[in-house]
Amino acid sequence: ATMPPLLAAMATAGRHGILIKSAVVLEQLRLTDLVAFDKTGTLTEGTPRVDRVDTVTELSQDEVLRIAAAVETGSEHPIGAAIVDHARIRGISVPVASGFESTPGAGVSAYIDGRAIAVTKPGVSELNSTTQQIADEYEAAGMTVVLVWVEHRPVGVIGLVDTVRPGARSAVADIERITGNPTVLLTGDNRSAAQDAAKRTGIVDVRAGLLPDGKANAVNELQALGSLRWEGQPHRVLVVGDGVNDAPALAAADIGVAMGRTGSDLTLDTADAVLVRDDLGALASVIDLSRRAHRIVV
Ligand code: ADP
Ligand code: MG
Repeated sequence: ATMPPLLAAMATAGRHGILIKSAVVLEQLRLTDLVAFDKTGTLTEGTPRVDRVDTVTELSQDEVLRIAAAVETGSEHPIGAAIVDHARIRGISVPVASGFESTPGAGVSAYIDGRAIAVTKPGVSELNSTTQQIADEYEAAGMTVVLVWVEHRPVGVIGLVDTVRPGARSAVADIERITGNPTVLLTGDNRSAAQDAAKRTGIVDVRAGLLPDGKANAVNELQALGSLRWEGQPHRVLVVGDGVNDAPALAAADIGVAMGRTGSDLTLDTADAVLVRDDLGALASVIDLSRRAHRIVV
């Protein structure tokens, strides 16, 4: 017996590496005319590594890494994993922290020996000029920058670099050709790091420094813009992301797509579809497929 066309299309999508949660999603995919990507873990591998460590007090680099790694042990963010790995590689013994708290899109905090330690992005608190200068220098080099704080005083700056996924550039080009519209990059990271990833993937529209709700607002703004393809109708926006920080944007989108391998549980739950093999190239194929499947049905 032959499968009904919609089911067959869902099965084909599965073979392309996209798990679609319901047939309704297939219909939404057909109408998708604008795609927005998260940066870290979506356009990039999401396995950043620590490239630079600077200290701005009497603490040594290893001491800065030691306390940063202790706090990041509780984090599920790729930045946290990178800092913990780096400390391990340098043979630093990492103490146990308590009272871990995470603010998606901003940073993490905990206590070590009763002292408040935080690892955050710049901009959450005023910096002295030395620290600001180092942070600016790292940012200008396209790095992701985090600050290490002890009792609300900055003690160190860590610069991280991440690699763009090999298929990202061609996926962006294919998607722009199929949707007929430029893609968008949405990130909580700094503007220079965002521009660096954008340049490497061919994305022109870059929205940086966004908190999770800011990403969702950006999605709503994009939806409100009239589409060229659908004669002034609102854009149907597809968002791809991997992190807890992307969940609001995925929920706001017409279609939320999660990275299957690196995606957090919350993101996978919120998503309408999952890129099983983290292959962005599958997106273009499946949008194309959904349009062809529709022609078969009607
Ligand atoms: P993206 O949108 O690129 O996936 P996020 O929104 O997850 O990035 O994070 C934005 C910024 O917040 C990071 O670039 C970093 O500066 C800071 N940040 C997020 N999580 C952490 C963490 N666990 N430790 C330190 N900084 C963090
Ligand atoms: Mg991410």
